[in-house]
Amino acid sequence: MLLRIALRKKASKLTAVTAAVALAIAPMSSALAQQNKGPPVIRDTEAEQLLRDYTRPVLRAAGLEKQNIQVVILNESVFNAFVADGRRIFVNYGAMMQSETPNQIIGVLAHETGHLAGGHLAKLREQLARAQTQMIIAMLLGAGAMVAGARSGNSNSGLANAGAAAVAGPQEMIRRTLISYQRQQEENADRAGVKFLTATGQSPKGMYETFKRFTSESLFAARGADPYLQSHPMPADRVASLEELARASPYWDKKDDPALQMRHDMMRAKISAFMERQDTVYRRYPLSNTSLPGRYARAIATYLHGDLNNALTQIDGLIQAQPNNAYFYELRGQALLEGGRPNDAIAPLHKALALSNNAPLIEMLLGQALVATDNKAHTDEAIAILRAAVSRESEAPLGYAQLAMAYGRKGDYAEADLASAQAAYLRGDNKTARDLASRAKTRFAVGTPGWVKADDIVSAKPMPGQKSN
Ligand SMILES: [Zn+2]
Repeated sequence: MLLRIALRKKASKLTAVTAAVALAIAPMSSALAQQNKGPPVIRDTEAEQLLRDYTRPVLRAAGLEKQNIQVVILNESVFNAFVADGRRIFVNYGAMMQSETPNQIIGVLAHETGHLAGGHLAKLREQLARAQTQMIIAMLLGAGAMVAGARSGNSNSGLANAGAAAVAGPQEMIRRTLISYQRQQEENADRAGVKFLTATGQSPKGMYETFKRFTSESLFAARGADPYLQSHPMPADRVASLEELARASPYWDKKDDPALQMRHDMMRAKISAFMERQDTVYRRYPLSNTSLPGRYARAIATYLHGDLNNALTQIDGLIQAQPNNAYFYELRGQALLEGGRPNDAIAPLHKALALSNNAPLIEMLLGQALVATDNKAHTDEAIAILRAAVSRESEAPLGYAQLAMAYGRKGDYAEADLASAQAAYLRGDNKTARDLASRAKTRFAVGTPGWVKADDIVSAKPMPGQKSN
């Protein structure tokens, strides 16, 4: 299952930081400009599990294993990766697609972990607070009032006099100050990243290759057009010192484990098939490509673009090749569910759950299939599975939306209203969330757990950057 959804909490945190980053790296990239709509997040168990496996050793080497740091995949095709709130590493799906080896994306993740470990975000915020003062100083300079203030020994009067003296210079000055500050951070993050890779017995070559690629591309690309270059300034001397550092690693020539490379290629095939145009998918994975990733991409493209039976034949071929691959059964279940055969989707989804150690997003898909059968005999199982899913994956509205339908089918309207309210809340629809939660409160006995949860939603304040309607 690959979902594109806006996660409310993540969205709001990112939006809050976006204003700051946009100031730091004007002109704003198109990716950042779009974030007012809330960044759509891609959810997929297979890709997320792979990214967890990539980051876990690095986070441990950085001493951050207890921070519960998540990697969040953003629905953006351009290459970018960044940290925004100290708890999450954001990676565009474009960065995953453009990384040909696990080592390349692991290198980027190690560099971002270097930013996290170095507390660079806090420093950036501090720097922005200072930028406010610098803007004032620049305005004073523009008005010549700074000189006057300095002469009189009273800068306050200068500040007061310069109120209307806006000049073109300050924004550019702030931008340059912040970027030069970031350069130091970049070098520190490079050094930390290489250290983490060495500590975990991994090569820093992929990290170097990625950053080198950006330096050479930037010679041709329009200046400032690339969001990754904007957030990670890469002057030639930085890349040169990274190269020196990286080549000194005892693991420089170490290759990725072939099994990990295969998982990486499967992940890229899946992202291509779900996210790219059909003709692009077939250009990347033509019929002549009989590798497992090639077959995976075409099976997904076939199910997405209409022919269910043909897709099922292709998926069965994949299952034959890897009978213990949870994601092939998940795909079979998803194809059947979306093809209008929810009853047939149940068995493969049960199998996918067993093989994936009960992945919550797959539980949600199974819950959805059970609800879609329209068979009351499945209702209790649907509720149990969906409750288990939302208890571990509380930010995905799909689970609550399906739970609401299951409760509705049982005639439990209090729980149905509460679950609908939770789904609306996670979608960022505050008004609907409040209305449904208010109604749920009237259906629960006062003080019961359901009433308390509903009351929390009724009294929840909108997050920064969100409309209160
Ligand atoms: Zn960086």
